[in-house]
Amino acid sequence: MAERDGAPLVAILTGAGISTDSGIPDYRGPQGLWRKDPEAEKLVTYAYYMADPDIRRRSWLMRGESPVWRATPNAAHEAIAALERSGTPVRVVTQNVDGLHQAAGVPDRKVLELHGNARTVLCTACGARSAMERALERVAAGEADPACEECGGILKSATVMFGQALDGEVLAQAVTVAKACDVFLAVGTSLQVQPAASLAGLAAEHGARLVIVNAEPTPYDSLADELVRTPIGESLPRLLADLHP
Ligand SMILES: [Zn+2]
Repeated sequence: MAERDGAPLVAILTGAGISTDSGIPDYRGPQGLWRKDPEAEKLVTYAYYMADPDIRRRSWLMRGESPVWRATPNAAHEAIAALERSGTPVRVVTQNVDGLHQAAGVPDRKVLELHGNARTVLCTACGARSAMERALERVAAGEADPACEECGGILKSATVMFGQALDGEVLAQAVTVAKACDVFLAVGTSLQVQPAASLAGLAAEHGARLVIVNAEPTPYDSLADELVRTPIGESLPRLLADLHP
């Protein structure tokens, strides 16, 4: 990594568990709300979304009500941002779409969002990106299914829906980080969703110290150098403080 210059590279993979203290429940994990509610899951499944205007109408209403818009970073997000500010090379790889790592102050270029970002809207026809805030204003003003202002195409949030592949470029960068890092922390993720989970194994295989911070056991626990079960908001600031130069 270009900015390594001797200091150990710290990779931090984060999942839904890091954002629950910010009031955002787990939606998309194996035990997540969407997986347990087939009707809700349709709203975030690409084929249904593209085929059915009523699904899109309901999906826009759900986005408008998302707790993400009111959420602020918690102690764990702040601790990661503080580590980055300390000069330690840090890369965040996240399964979350809430943008809270950047809100805490981690530069955008150091955050790899495996599942995209809910604060951005993407046109499925022309690829134009715009602010979610603007689209939600249009919904509030009465447009049930706002179309792309450039080309009239179907808009969606810039997140990876069920049935969509991850962004190959983002995933490739995450693999590079996993192979190159000296310490790999998996925080608030059950490590059950691939390919994100395999990054932990890849890091361990390439000699990184693997630390898993999660309330429940994960399939990668046997590879871990350290397992932390205490709440993330307490344990992560302490763990990361030890990594400051
Ligand atoms: Zn468009």
